[in-house]
Amino acid sequence: MNNKNLKIDFWDVGQGDASVVHLPDSSLIVIDTGPLGSPLYEWFAREPRYVRNFLITHNDSDHIGCLASILELSKKGMLSYEKIGIVSDRGFDHPTVKKLWSQLRQYEPKMTPLGQGQTIWEDESLGLSLQVVHPSPFKTIRFKAANQKSAILVLYHDGVPKVVFPGDAKFRSIKKKFADSRIDYLVGPHHGRPEDRSPQKYFDKFKANVDSTSVDNLLISVGTDNSHGHPDRDYLQIMAKKPCRVSCTQLTPQCDEAIASSGVPVFDGTQALGLEPIQSGTPCRGCFQLVWDSTKNQLVPHISHLKKHDEGIQMLKSPMCVAKDVKG
Ligand SMILES: [Zn+2]
Ligand SMILES: [Zn+2]
Repeated sequence: MNNKNLKIDFWDVGQGDASVVHLPDSSLIVIDTGPLGSPLYEWFAREPRYVRNFLITHNDSDHIGCLASILELSKKGMLSYEKIGIVSDRGFDHPTVKKLWSQLRQYEPKMTPLGQGQTIWEDESLGLSLQVVHPSPFKTIRFKAANQKSAILVLYHDGVPKVVFPGDAKFRSIKKKFADSRIDYLVGPHHGRPEDRSPQKYFDKFKANVDSTSVDNLLISVGTDNSHGHPDRDYLQIMAKKPCRVSCTQLTPQCDEAIASSGVPVFDGTQALGLEPIQSGTPCRGCFQLVWDSTKNQLVPHISHLKKHDEGIQMLKSPMCVAKDVKG
């Protein structure tokens, strides 16, 4: 790896979120780990690594589930790390939280709260910084659902949002923060089905929020076999028509039932990047990588990977990532 640069791997962890930011000094920032059994674990077990920050958007198992097993590697000398950023989204009386946190409480000395106003990392010479813009302490108290309290992390270049990692936050929360700017890459939110997409009586408001937010690329992390109907076709279509380039880690039956159940990848980005494969689901683009180009001041994707994904989806019955009236 070019150790004077920044690189982001967006992992295919099935139904869940996980991204790894490789900083110019070769240290790592991990944004969500994916669920228990996430391929990120195997990657961490491969060789010793140094993580500046683990940042967990919220305490749902598809985002934090693999954290305990990864941290376990620190006891074998395979991992060293500085801090674990956590949002206090629910009490210990919640069964999911209690189960996850019975293994995590031993790491409490390294934990810090994650919330609005924090700068996690910055590099003045590159003009890049990673900041937390949500939730405020007020929102943490006011909001009921853990998803609503999801941390929203942003990689900025000179004040311009390059990548927004909103976990499972509502789209409305993203719109509020970025009403006047153009987002280069947006992850999800909520695996392509923002929670404020329903109920139906508020759909027009949701659509207006999505329509009025400028996004150039949408990265969805979703599992083929998810039982929640993720991602949402309407959301992906509104985005694709912007136009915005939409792609998903895995294929779901909504795009093509036969190919989704075949297990044959549309494009295997995970293998192309040499990252750990996932044992379940059918990759549509699999993992995805962006590399910072400091001469052009932009994040650059693997164009050949995007091309192969775009060719592959031509075979699908009704791909959600292609705007209907464009495909004809
Ligand atoms: Zn969640
Ligand atoms: Zn989630």
